[in-house]
Amino acid sequence: MAEVFSGYGWEVPRMVAAMRDSDDLFFDVVSQIHMPRWSTGRVALVGDAAYAPSFFSGQGSSLALVGAYVLAGELAAHARHDDAFAGYERTLRSFAERNQALAGEGSAGVSPRTAEDLARRNKALRDPAAVLNSAGRETHSALALPGYDGSGAPDAP
Ligand SMILES: Cc1cc2nc3c(=O)[nH]c(=O)nc-3n(C[C@H](O)[C@H](O)[C@H](O)COP(=O)(O)OP(=O)(O)OC[C@H]3O[C@@H](n4cnc5c(N)ncnc54)[C@H](O)[C@@H]3O)c2cc1C
Repeated sequence: MAEVFSGYGWEVPRMVAAMRDSDDLFFDVVSQIHMPRWSTGRVALVGDAAYAPSFFSGQGSSLALVGAYVLAGELAAHARHDDAFAGYERTLRSFAERNQALAGEGSAGVSPRTAEDLARRNKALRDPAAVLNSAGRETHSALALPGYDGSGAPDAP
């Protein structure tokens, strides 16, 4: 990090120095998880392990919670675990993939690379109320959760 950021101005030298003194530095690559299938045998993946979207898109916590809900509901609704796993993936896969696809546009806000993106990001940070009061992206609520009423079959969404 020190090598890559050597010669930079602003607060960068102070941040690099602080990194050297930190005992809990977090440093990682930004990545997504795309699995061809989410289960095998009696094992099923949920959350980041199956469909991590990265913080460029957000929604990682929401996908993990929704995934756990749908997986539990499908297991309760089906006698056979492989039917439940198939129902879980059928219900959730396109929602997870649509949210993962938001990462492309999200990276401009979190990690701006052009002057225009930087100006747009700074404007949003100066007026967080506008962001908080915005309706949110349609993709975030593109899944109507099944009800799973305990009768053995999922309710209609
Ligand atoms: C920097 C950053 C910022 C983020 N910002 C947002 C955000 O603003 N909004 C959002 O929705 N999401 C955000 N996310 C993503 C979000 O944190 C994850 O998508 C979410 O936590 C996934 O939940 P999970 O339960 O699938 O996995 P995790 O929360 O990673 O839980 C997995 C757990 O398993 C444990 N574990 C691992 N291996 C083993 C083992 N062998 N035995 C026992 N336990 C084990 C781990 O310690 C961990 O507690 C962010 C992530 C990062 C890294």
